[in-house]
Amino acid sequence: MKYIENAMKLARQSNCQSDTTFFQAIEEVLTSIKPFLKKNPQYFEHNIIDRIIYPNREIRFKIEWLDDNNHIQVNNGYRVQFNNALGPYKGGVRFHPSVTPDILKFLAFEQIFKNAITGLHIGGAKGGADFDPKGKSDQEIMKFCQAFMTAFYNSIGEDIDILGGDIGVGEREVGYLFGQYKTLTNSYDSIITSKPISLGGSKGRSSATGYGLIYFTETLLEDMGETLKGKICTISGSGNVAIHAIEKLYDVGAIPVTCSDSKGTIHDPNGIDLALLKEIKLKKRSSLEAYAEERKAATYVKREDYQSGSYVWEVPCFAAFPCATQNELSGESAQKLIDNDVKIVAEGANMPTTPDGIDLFMKHKILFAPAKAANAGGVAVSVLEMSQNNSLSYMSAEEIDEKLRGIMSKIFKDIKKTCDDYCLDMDLASGANILGFKRVANAMIAQGV
Ligand code: NDP
Repeated sequence: MKYIENAMKLARQSNCQSDTTFFQAIEEVLTSIKPFLKKNPQYFEHNIIDRIIYPNREIRFKIEWLDDNNHIQVNNGYRVQFNNALGPYKGGVRFHPSVTPDILKFLAFEQIFKNAITGLHIGGAKGGADFDPKGKSDQEIMKFCQAFMTAFYNSIGEDIDILGGDIGVGEREVGYLFGQYKTLTNSYDSIITSKPISLGGSKGRSSATGYGLIYFTETLLEDMGETLKGKICTISGSGNVAIHAIEKLYDVGAIPVTCSDSKGTIHDPNGIDLALLKEIKLKKRSSLEAYAEERKAATYVKREDYQSGSYVWEVPCFAAFPCATQNELSGESAQKLIDNDVKIVAEGANMPTTPDGIDLFMKHKILFAPAKAANAGGVAVSVLEMSQNNSLSYMSAEEIDEKLRGIMSKIFKDIKKTCDDYCLDMDLASGANILGFKRVANAMIAQGV
């Protein structure tokens, strides 16, 4: 269809040529919604394709902060407020040296559809900075968060744009960001989620993405007459999403045997020692090498010693959960998983599988749960946090967990119905894109130009 070519041309003209990750995300969505667009010409009449790939606002700002040696440091900060047709912008903040406008545009674009799939009335955004929290003192983290918020607090608000966590931004950073907003505005507005409980955060928010990923996978498998019980699972990453996915895998009787970080991979055939993993990654904030030193049964493969992507995908498994970062599961890795007879791949990270990897999973009829659906538990519980803050009432951990299960199950059912409506078999990636696109596009049409 010519519309994809035209849209990609427009995207390339209006963005930097090096925005390759963003272009990858656009192409993936537009290609997969073809069967839907063929039957719905009204979206062309309203020029929705060109309009939906164009961010509403991109904010770029300078962050100046003082390190522990009293040297002034400078970083780049960004917020991409992509689309607010369904509600106020909502999306996380990432602090990592790899943050660029390209990465944030891709994440914000994905966030629009993910938020729409949850059925909640929120738009899509993403922000962050090329700041590396690793090796920084607590004081430095606080000063950086304060400087970040000072630089752009007047662009957000509880009805305008609500922030959240992501890579490098956990409860500690969210607490400092929120504290600075309150100092600057004298208001306790709910402008950020994933807050610590002491600041009005929701019970179950920190575990929501990882738990939601496993709930989604269980629902999908149940539909196929399968279960995770007793099955070997591989997980990449060892941050918030990965750790909570591993925790929930144990709860459902599965055997998670791997985790990874930016330096290397752990393969622990008897099952990952969760307490040790939490101690190393959450308390000591050190590398996974320390895990292998403590657990003699585990193998540690350094990233620099393994040239073909991530070693995680070498390990035979029933289910694979990429939970680290974008494009971490290549076509080559997908082929290894297929050769080892993987049955299901469920994405915890945002867009972790490359397009050739997804194509291979589709070709070999591997069940594939796309990030937009499978990791939407985090944003869903964030909205529960916002509603608790607004009504000054608080739900118990059990209530939140029950709601999260219900939301993940509904997301699966809605996507499956979309797949049935457009004869997509079990192509959940296309089903998710169509469902999200339809909700956003209809809201755009209803609002006029
Ligand atoms: P964290 O910062 O808590 O953890 C990220 C983990 O991934 C770290 O262990 C990090 O290693 C590791 N990592 C980073 N790059 C690589 C790499 N190239 N190879 C292997 N490991 C790597 O982030 P989150 O767990 O919060 O986020 C993970 C993913 O999930 C991201 O894609 C994020 O956008 C997505 N996501 C997160 C949500 C949330 O609620 N937190 C919600 C929805 C999506 P190291 O420790 O060495 O830095």
